[in-house]
Amino acid sequence: MSTQDAGAGIGRTDAPLVAIDGPSGVGKSTAAKGLARHLKARYLDTGAMFRAVAWWCQQCGVDLDDAAAVTATARATPLEMGQDPDAPFVRVDGQDITEAIRDQQISTVVSKVATNLDVRAHLAALQRELIDAAVASGEGIVAEGRDITTKIAPDAPVRILLVAAPEARLERRAMEVLGAAGESEREAVRDAVVRRDADDSTVSNFSTAADGVVTLDNSTFTPAQTLAAVIDITAAVYPRFARTQ
Ligand code: C5P
Repeated sequence: MSTQDAGAGIGRTDAPLVAIDGPSGVGKSTAAKGLARHLKARYLDTGAMFRAVAWWCQQCGVDLDDAAAVTATARATPLEMGQDPDAPFVRVDGQDITEAIRDQQISTVVSKVATNLDVRAHLAALQRELIDAAVASGEGIVAEGRDITTKIAPDAPVRILLVAAPEARLERRAMEVLGAAGESEREAVRDAVVRRDADDSTVSNFSTAADGVVTLDNSTFTPAQTLAAVIDITAAVYPRFARTQ
């Protein structure tokens, strides 16, 4: 098995390793950050890595439909991922793009980068390195994305698939991006949720749980309830992290 095929993070320390996957608007980032804070572990937003590559390609004037050029640019992207859950950041070439990559325009085009299998292989290797380093450090990590439970860290002791009804996800994404969730706002984010999930699901399966992955449907949950549930799932494997209240 090559390093690229090997899963990340196993067998080094008893540091926690949690993998969380799910579609857009399900609340993965909020839950993953909250869980990382609870565990005093690092936090890795793998979606931000794909967004950063899309952003950098555009900065460099690379046509996102030119797969070879996108691959070459991805491999050369000077990417830095800040993994403190209280202040995660993304830098490319020294520039802080944490906010810039949340732009709707990036959400619209990011799947073009993420469905490029050579880009995926490059970012997968980086993701596994970051996960391995976090586990080896003893701090541990919560990593979130679309293929963490299945491809990046399939041996993680805790693997969770967060799912929610499409209408709930549209509403959440509309609130997050536009500050309201009426019909027009939900329509405005539909492409960034429904079409993007359809494109992304051509390369990753994040709608049904792989063997051993716990599915959590949070359609009717508040963010606090989702966090409590992921802490409980994690504490079933790592009892020292059980909630005290
Ligand atoms: O999670 P977020 O919406 O920020 O992810 C942005 C994009 O990155 C997704 O739409 C998907 O195309 C890609 N992605 C991926 N695999 C991951 C994480 C994200 O393909 N593990």
